[in-house]
Amino acid sequence: MLFARAHARTSAAALEGNLRALSRRAGVPLLLPVKADAYGHGLEIVACVAARHPDVWGLAVATPQEAGALAALNPGKPVVLLTPPRAGEVPLLADLGVRLPVASLEQAEALPPHARAHLKVDTGMNRLGARPEDAVRVGQRLAERGVLEGAYTHFATADEPDLAFAWQQFRRFQDVLAQLPPVLAHASNGGGILSLGALPGMRLARPGLASYGFAPPHLGGVLPLTPVMTLDAEVTHLHTALEGESVSYGGLWHAPRDTLLATVGLGYADGYPRNATGQAHVTVAGERRPVVGRICMDQCMVDVTGLPVQVGDTVRFWGPDAITAGDVAGWGGTNEYEVLTGLGARVERLAAP
Ligand SMILES: *Cc1c(COP(=O)(O)O)cnc(C)c1O
Repeated sequence: MLFARAHARTSAAALEGNLRALSRRAGVPLLLPVKADAYGHGLEIVACVAARHPDVWGLAVATPQEAGALAALNPGKPVVLLTPPRAGEVPLLADLGVRLPVASLEQAEALPPHARAHLKVDTGMNRLGARPEDAVRVGQRLAERGVLEGAYTHFATADEPDLAFAWQQFRRFQDVLAQLPPVLAHASNGGGILSLGALPGMRLARPGLASYGFAPPHLGGVLPLTPVMTLDAEVTHLHTALEGESVSYGGLWHAPRDTLLATVGLGYADGYPRNATGQAHVTVAGERRPVVGRICMDQCMVDVTGLPVQVGDTVRFWGPDAITAGDVAGWGGTNEYEVLTGLGARVERLAAP
């Protein structure tokens, strides 16, 4: 057998606790975003937890292929596609039971009679959806055809400190809903739940990153969220760099003294940001230690001087305590979304209790 060198573990308990807390604050069940391989955690692992969670109504994906893959897992809960499929993909998706986004009369007319639609309203994100003045007619047509299940919009700034625009978006959405029969309405992403709380008339909420344990800094105290993923990789080699020698590409880092180095099997091709070079730290043998020299494609080097480290030992890159994916994002000049979804295919996804 050949084994992966890096492992991303998803804590079911952490995910379950986050989902419960978010659903309570939103006051409604969740439509859990599992796009991009469940924010890098592994679609099947997360779908399995969500399938048995009482606060999860359904699962949301970004692409038709994701919808197909999720439907094939038989999650036992509704699957909602959030972006427009090609016209030719609609019949198959409808047959799979996937709920489809609709934003035009043409799309509304083209749905097969057994389809279920979620009217997408563009209240200010300017990405997808019908403008409010057109959405009402589309929604009414979907209702006439008996295929209108839900209606939704997406906030552009709900995770920012200034909420004026988010409230404006919500009022526009409410105006549309007032002219439709009752539907499963949903608006808030994670930022919206944390900042706006329970929103009148909403029946579902769609927290993504927050479900996986991260909040924007200014909303960090609103709910006790726990990072769900732990990322570990193995030491593949140990050696000593002599005082004054350089380490890794470009010779950026020089050993200030004879230095015991652990070479670890994780690099930027696995999603560990190359831009974190010079700032990155890891936890090894219970201690916080620096990554030294350029982060490579498949590997990086850690100063483990004085630690009882052996080949095959585990180095922790991020987890729920000590160093988090948020710290790594900061060192890499990016955010948790990009770090989590950027995790490469060589990292094996595992389920943990
Ligand atoms: C990704 C996405 C979400 C989840 O957003 P978070 O910021 O991760 O909470 C919700 N709704 C839509 C339409 C999305 O595309």
